[in-house]
This record gives sequence, C-alpha cells and structure tokens, in this order.
Amino acid sequence: MEKKTGFAAEIRRWVGETAYRRGAAYMREGRVKHPRQHGRVLEALCQGSAVLPYQVWVRLGEAGDILRARCTCPAGSEGHCKHVAAVLLLWHTRPEAFAPAPPLAAMLSQWEKDDLIRLILRMVARYPDLALWVVPPEEDGFPPAAP
Ligand SMILES: [Zn+2]
Repeated sequence: MEKKTGFAAEIRRWVGETAYRRGAAYMREGRVKHPRQHGRVLEALCQGSAVLPYQVWVRLGEAGDILRARCTCPAGSEGHCKHVAAVLLLWHTRPEAFAPAPPLAAMLSQWEKDDLIRLILRMVARYPDLALWVVPPEEDGFPPAAP
C-alpha cells in the first residue's frame, strides 16, 4: 500500500497532539501486538493501562489517508485515541510488521453457528463483562461501539 510522505502529519491531525505523543511512546514500548492488514483495513491489539489489551481498527483511504478508526478503550469510539496513534505509527514506520490476514470478522464468518455460540459462551465464562458486548454488529467489519 502506498503511503503519503506526510503520513505522520496525517496521524497527528487525526488523533491530536497529546494522543500522538502518547501513542508514539506506546509504539516504542512495543505495546502494539498482532498487527494485521486486510486490504486497507488495519487491525491490532494495543496494551493500555487495563489488564486486557484494547482492539484497534483503522480504515485507510486509497491515498493512504485515515478514513475511519475505532478502539475499544473508553475514549476510542471515534478512533482518536493514543492506541490508534500507536497502531498508525507502527504502520508508518514498520508496515512489514502487519501480517496480511483476513479481519477477525471475515474468519469468524466462516465458522458454524454452533461453534460460534460455544466460543462466545466460553469467552463470557472467562470474562463475564463480555456479555455486554453481545449486540448486533455494524456493517463494514467494524464491531459495535463499547457498551
Ligand atoms: Zn484507545
């Protein structure tokens, strides 16, 4: 995928100066895990202050601009947080770190319904708060906003 030379400026414009600086530190600290790319969608986990890492999605435009983003952190529903910044900065500096892989949604779409139900029940047994997330998905491969 082609990137603009001004992509760092694009990231800064998207997340703002504070989140940009914090995201840069997160990226340097290696907090971005399992980065993957499918077409122009980037997905990764970012270890924040919570026990579980946050999930980050970014949709890039044809020119490599940022069209849409979302993070599962409390501030991330519009995707302007430091976790999104960390993922985008990793994409900017080490795009090869992003394994080409179908988005989680595409992989799960191939599962049988009974297997999906069993998986969700196992996940909720382990992390009961996940029951709050059992709501209909949005189009576009993005999950719903945090409950
Ligand atoms: Zn976030």
